[in-house]
Amino acid sequence: MMFKKIGLFVVIVIVVLIGVMTFNTFTNTADDPIFEVVEMPAIDTNAVAARLSEAVRIKTISTDVGDPPASAEFDQLHLLITSAFPLVHENLKRDVVGDHSLLYSWEGSDTSLPPALLMGHMDVVPVEPGTEGDWEEDAFSGAIKDGKIWGRGTLDDKLSVFAILEAAELQLAAGFKPKRTLYFAFGHDEEIGGENGAGKIADLLEERGVKLAFTLDEGMVIVQGMMPGVEEPIAFIALAEKGYLTLKLTATTEGGHSSIPPKTTAIGKIARAITRLEENRFPAALNSPASDMFDTLAPHMGLPLKAIISNRWLLDPLLVSELGKGGATNAMVRTTTAITITESGTKDNVLPSTATATVNFRLLPDTSIDDVVDHVTKVVDDPDIKISVKQGNEPSRISSKSGEGYQLIEKTIRETLPDVLVSPGLMLAGSDSKHYETIAENSYRFLPMRFGPDDLSRVHGTNERIYIDSYVEIIQFYRRLLENTGG
Ligand SMILES: [Zn+2]
Repeated sequence: MMFKKIGLFVVIVIVVLIGVMTFNTFTNTADDPIFEVVEMPAIDTNAVAARLSEAVRIKTISTDVGDPPASAEFDQLHLLITSAFPLVHENLKRDVVGDHSLLYSWEGSDTSLPPALLMGHMDVVPVEPGTEGDWEEDAFSGAIKDGKIWGRGTLDDKLSVFAILEAAELQLAAGFKPKRTLYFAFGHDEEIGGENGAGKIADLLEERGVKLAFTLDEGMVIVQGMMPGVEEPIAFIALAEKGYLTLKLTATTEGGHSSIPPKTTAIGKIARAITRLEENRFPAALNSPASDMFDTLAPHMGLPLKAIISNRWLLDPLLVSELGKGGATNAMVRTTTAITITESGTKDNVLPSTATATVNFRLLPDTSIDDVVDHVTKVVDDPDIKISVKQGNEPSRISSKSGEGYQLIEKTIRETLPDVLVSPGLMLAGSDSKHYETIAENSYRFLPMRFGPDDLSRVHGTNERIYIDSYVEIIQFYRRLLENTGG
């Protein structure tokens, strides 16, 4: 009798759970804001492509931290900008900051509105030696072929700089006058940390007492076919970027001759530490902004993902463990650990007295550098291993997805790219945005560039190129954003 009662109770619980989960799944419908599509006036595509192509030919390469900047090339790029965008030059105030970075100020008529700042960077990474021949068109040719512009900077990030300037030039020609003050900030050393460029521009604005409503920088893009369960292209507006930390682990033991070895050498100790770190990863957790992304996209997903995300109150552990299994989704839910360099030993028969391992971590927004050092100290648990910080910056703060800037960016995407879904996101790499955190209420990282599955490898890699159609869409986006933000 008792068993029958328990059996009935279990059946009722299961039926209720299935009912609740089904209800949650089918009532989880998109409440995306609806905006009318805005047709922007046509653009002279050949002319804009030619200007970006010319910029690509100028080798504004950042090599390593501490190396002198490519001064002559930056001067040449500044000259190109001045001559290609005469109305911008005439109407906007221009400051050269940190020798080679540019800050443009477009004064608004209403000083009570907090200004907005659009960003891009003028430097590019070098081509990896030995891969020059793998390019279909030379990396600094700026070749225009088959509807594409080829070369370094066409995806990262001269296109942002030139698209913003094209948009401003067109708006000036149309007689547009912003109410809100707009800044354009173009750094020259983003690829090596941005200290002298974006860092100094932010200092200058701070000195002038500027408080920004928001900044918009490169970062996430429009992707299609990369998010499981969603067919439409998705524009990800990153609300935060992960932190960056490199630790060096050094094991020290007695050296000597290998004929009388101790039980463990320095190499053995480092090997043990590496194994422990790989076996004791940071726990996975689905927190903001990655959780905002899944919550926003769930209504657009197919089953079973939609059902799982709509019932996170019950199924979160299942979702997190699936996401944490590997690849990009793992990086969204975890502070990642990557052993990148090991060094030790010189001779077959000599015991090494030291061995080192370099470990690179990417920190979720809720994890600090101190948290990582504590975790590593605890996991390695070896007094003979010294742990030191080689390089690091904390994760960014998380900007608001209900902030004015986010709303303006989303509206502009929906007006100019109506086939695209919009979602908050977490940027896995770093950008110049961090330098402005103290003077900006919110920082967003998004460039409306359409990425296919093979495009990510072109950024900093071989065969970087952009479709002219995509570049034109980006210019139209900025053009409308100037109207919406400055309006
Ligand atoms: Zn970049």
